[in-house]
Amino acid sequence: MRLSITLIALVFAGALSMSASAAPRVYVFNCGSINITDVASFGLTNEETDVRDLFVPCYLIENGDQRLFWDGGLPLSLVGSKDLELEPGMKVSYPRSVLDQLQDINLTPADIDLVAFSHFHFDHIGAAGAFADSTLLINKREYTAAFLQADQYEIFDPSLYSKLADADRIELTDADYDVFGDGSVILISAPGHTPGHQVLLVKLENTGPILLSGDLYHFEFNRRHQRVPAFNTDKAQTLKAMQKIEQRLEAEGATLWLEHSQALADSLNLAPAFYD
Ligand SMILES: [Zn+2]
Repeated sequence: MRLSITLIALVFAGALSMSASAAPRVYVFNCGSINITDVASFGLTNEETDVRDLFVPCYLIENGDQRLFWDGGLPLSLVGSKDLELEPGMKVSYPRSVLDQLQDINLTPADIDLVAFSHFHFDHIGAAGAFADSTLLINKREYTAAFLQADQYEIFDPSLYSKLADADRIELTDADYDVFGDGSVILISAPGHTPGHQVLLVKLENTGPILLSGDLYHFEFNRRHQRVPAFNTDKAQTLKAMQKIEQRLEAEGATLWLEHSQALADSLNLAPAFYD
């Protein structure tokens, strides 16, 4: 009898501590930056914005004892680069590996349960190969395009993420996907930039709900004027996704975190600080 009361007390305490710790927190990592001289391919003229520096983030979302790594930054092979000219008109820098930054908060890829990427362009899956032991959450259309039909798309480079083809588990998603099953972190399909592009809604208790943009927009100007980059896979789909996500932002009272915004990054506290 005494034993069972102790057990009940333990279970109850466990439930309490679980609910107390289940509010998500978000860490933002510097996973490099890109400098471009010409923004025309993004659907705007060089006069319409003076922004030329794009921040490249990675994120860790913790929810109780579960962890999701979102967007993988520049390729790890670029770590240590400073103003390296990748192609004419495009320079990249990547001061310190995201894996070292994870180490700062005492984590290794083995501690990451889930990985998801807004899409499979080179500046979003750079560390992907380090997470082959995690479960990959990927929109089924992105999976088909990036893993099965990459030869049909100039924009995908399988050598950067082929290790994920052997991910411990691949979970194909379709529309919205409730990552932890408690409604706090939700993958939202927003196709058009790539066939299975998605964004991530995180309902933070103190900061308020935030929505990580992926590449729905690269510049504030794209958002204000609904401009679609020339290299998107589907313009009509992108415009529909923009409309859908703007409505969702409104409905959730969420703040859009424009992932490539250097101005936003400068205003944020990067890891080891976090938002909850
Ligand atoms: Zn990007």
